[in-house]
Order: sequence, then C-alpha cells, then structure tokens
Amino acid sequence: MPRPSANAPCPCGSGRKAKGCCLPVLEGAPAATPEALMRSRYTAYASGEVSHLIRTTDPTGPHHQPDVRAWAEELRAYCAAVRFTGLEVRAASEDGDTGAVTFFAHLRHGDRDLSFGEASRFRRAEGRWLYLDGERLEG
Ligand SMILES: [Zn+2]
Repeated sequence: MPRPSANAPCPCGSGRKAKGCCLPVLEGAPAATPEALMRSRYTAYASGEVSHLIRTTDPTGPHHQPDVRAWAEELRAYCAAVRFTGLEVRAASEDGDTGAVTFFAHLRHGDRDLSFGEASRFRRAEGRWLYLDGERLEG
C-alpha cells in the first residue's frame, strides 16, 4: 500500500482521515503522544515508509540496527510481504519522557495470520517520541 492519501481513512484505524492523523507524522511532524507515534509506525509499516520506522526507533534501544541500509532493505521486504489489516490500541500512557502503549496489530502473510499483541515502550528525546522496545503478549 502506498502512503495514504490525505482524505483516505487512516490505516491505523483511528477513524480519522489520514491528513488529521498519521500523515503529518509520516511527513516529519513530531508525534504529540506515544500513541500517536505508535499509530504512525503502524501506518508506516502498512505503507512501506521504512525511513519513518528507522528515524522513530530509539538509537539507544535494542531494535536500532547500525547498518541502516541493510535494515531498510529488511524492512522494505517485510512491508512488501505482509498485509497490515488493522490496529487496536488497548492502552496508552505517558509519564514525563517515557511512554507505554499496549496494542494488538492485525497482519497477514499469505494465508498465515501473523497478528500479535505488544506492550511497547517509548522514550522522548529532544521533543520527539521514539520507539524503545516491546514485549509480545498472548492473544
Ligand atoms: Zn493514523
């Protein structure tokens, strides 16, 4: 899926138009909350915006990869192979420069259901929320 058009329903499932939800964040605006950043990352996965995924991954966290070019290739292949069919945000909070979002992401690879839940953690650095790490949840 390409980047959503401005008036299309946002792929993150917020019920808002993309221009009033994830699109400005994909275009470089700081996400106002950890939830907004998490939603924009789901939309980035759904639309293959790998540069957004890379720049919003905490460079001090376990998911940041030093070889950015190889990482981008890996993400591009993943985004192309997987269909992102929906997102449910179940809880979101922030406390100073740390944040947490619990979500369930729906995705499919061919006939396989790869959906998963995650309790993810975020950190704010220089006014921008970044994805730090996450823990997979059951069901
Ligand atoms: Zn959105």
